[in-house]
Amino acid sequence: MNKPSALFDLASAGVQHSSPYIPGKPVEELERELGLTGIVKLASNENPLGPSPSAIHAIQAHIADLTRYPDGSGFRLKQALAAKYHLSPNQITLGNGSNELLELVARTFLTPALSVVFSQHAFAVYPIVTQAVGAKAIVVPALNYGHDLEAMLQSITPQTRLVFIANPNNPTGTLLPQAQLQQFIKALPPTVVCVLDEAYYEFVSAGQQCDSVAWLAECPNLLITRTFSKAYGLAGLRIGYGLSSADMADLLNRVRQPFNNNSLALVAAEAALADAVYLQKTIQLNQDGMQQLTNAFKALGLNWIPSAGNFVTVDLKRPADAIYTALLAKGVIVRPVANYDLPNHLRISIGTAVENQVFIDALTAILANV
Ligand SMILES: *Cc1c(COP(=O)(O)O)cnc(C)c1O
Repeated sequence: MNKPSALFDLASAGVQHSSPYIPGKPVEELERELGLTGIVKLASNENPLGPSPSAIHAIQAHIADLTRYPDGSGFRLKQALAAKYHLSPNQITLGNGSNELLELVARTFLTPALSVVFSQHAFAVYPIVTQAVGAKAIVVPALNYGHDLEAMLQSITPQTRLVFIANPNNPTGTLLPQAQLQQFIKALPPTVVCVLDEAYYEFVSAGQQCDSVAWLAECPNLLITRTFSKAYGLAGLRIGYGLSSADMADLLNRVRQPFNNNSLALVAAEAALADAVYLQKTIQLNQDGMQQLTNAFKALGLNWIPSAGNFVTVDLKRPADAIYTALLAKGVIVRPVANYDLPNHLRISIGTAVENQVFIDALTAILANV
């Protein structure tokens, strides 16, 4: 925004006070700026493998469908998700990315008289959707970079209608233990809706994964959100989903646009969901890359926040913006997190072994000169 204009004054107070989401720098933009190719982007937690071959095949097979409106009910994808999770299709809400679910839940339940609880260092979309509807955000200080569930519970007031929890959290990668999280959800007043954002669920090791879907049977106010953008490699198509009680799904489906998921996203997601080999490859690549990056941090004497996701946030022990800029000059895009109250950290998405090494070499060279 340049300067407040007459039009600016017409916007609702929440929108006037909000700041737009800052995405990772696009590869093409840096290519234009530097006049070179071969940029390494480790900034948006995307899948470095490229899409699943079955997803690509499904898209190619359905290109000609583009003249038609998509199936607004997402029948086939919901059937596949319902079978995977042993739920009924009427417990599923499809979204244009799981981001849309976050927005739908805010529009469904919030008014300017109500408040929303989330953690410091939480995903930037939570304040955005809260302010867009003019509700009040209650930001609870983090505990060791993660959610302080006790303090979050304490901060709930009679006006609180929504709680957002990301598990694992982005941008810190912190993971809540199942027992603590389950206890927290059980302790919530019946007037509070809980959004459990599990965008990185597939990356959590089997022993640490919460059986959150099983909690739905007893928690009509719980909305679990998951996505095809991260482990399933379809960020560009924009498709995610919510799992909840049928009552919750009914409400969210009233608010969404009738054709919020495009037809290629629907068929690609269905194909990706069935590709267990791709998912396994993705998880293995992530584990190896996490080891590669954290080994390098150790060698450089840097601390990092232990991460359960497909990214790791490293403490540079000095303002990180100069290092971010120096990495850009070397053709490496990572993510500054100063807007998340982490001015000395950078968030690095796990890439392929080659991409990770390009980043490590660039960082090593930069740190040798500061
Ligand atoms: C990436 C991300 C999402 C989902 O993004 P979509 O592409 O809209 O599915 C949701 N929550 C968190 C915490 C994320 O990091």
